[in-house]
Amino acid sequence: MIFRTRFAPSPTGPLHLGHAYSALLAFDLAQAASGALLLRIEDIDQSRARANWEAQIYDDLEWLGLRWEMPVMRQSNRLPAYDAALDALWDRGLLYSCTCTRADIAAAASAPQEGAPLLGPDGIIYPGTCRPTNPISGPRPRDTPLRLDMTRACKMIGWPLTFAEEGDGNPKTITVTQNEMISGVGDIVLARRDMGTSYHLSVVIDDAEQRISHVVRGRDLIEATPVHVVLQHLLGLFQPTYHHHRLIRDAAGKRLAKRDDARAIALFRHKGCSAQDIRAMVGL
Ligand code: GLU
Ligand code: ZN
Repeated sequence: MIFRTRFAPSPTGPLHLGHAYSALLAFDLAQAASGALLLRIEDIDQSRARANWEAQIYDDLEWLGLRWEMPVMRQSNRLPAYDAALDALWDRGLLYSCTCTRADIAAAASAPQEGAPLLGPDGIIYPGTCRPTNPISGPRPRDTPLRLDMTRACKMIGWPLTFAEEGDGNPKTITVTQNEMISGVGDIVLARRDMGTSYHLSVVIDDAEQRISHVVRGRDLIEATPVHVVLQHLLGLFQPTYHHHRLIRDAAGKRLAKRDDARAIALFRHKGCSAQDIRAMVGL
């Protein structure tokens, strides 16, 4: 198999050391396997994406010595593909609209009979308030958030599911169970009102479109991977191998956040650091 990986930043702030590690590691793994690195700009959140951040991403990555296959994919150009997938899931009775607010969900999930609210990859697990008993027929509603009926979805795929995980230099097969998906993830939002899609839906569709064989990304996203595996099965998409890497932490051991501009690559550049210095800082 040809090794193809990607770096998929969101242009909502400067790239920092954590991003540099992710991008450099993906590039190094691709080089070592005579494969390719692809770039994808994850700009579905148009309320936060900015052209200047996107321009700086290209600039920083070039400065780091990275090369990537052209063209760059931009998720804001991919809405028709996400729409088609949502239509297909809707037609199979797997989606329903839900306009519950965060506060509604928190209130419903912490009702006395429910016990302490459980957390899934997207926050509080949806208590199912709007889930219809029977699938809804008719055309898919637009401009309304859509949730995946996880229980119904689970009935459509073979269990258990597995995925290959290569992080930590220790390849293993991770098993995903139906129970984990229904009780530990629940009915996640696949189409957000403001975007018409979601991170989970877009990422699996685009990894397949870019023919990614290996997803290299931070360990903070490993909780989302079972969701991606379920979506790949539902949509009949190729399932890549996953490599969830260690996270770069600050001196206090805290994970670097997007807003942690003190560790922005641009700042190190302006201070006269070299790409080699950045590699040393992240342990590459
Ligand atoms: N766009 C995501 C981020 O910047 C990365 C998604 C992924 O690698 O799957 O955190
Ligand atoms: Zn609802």
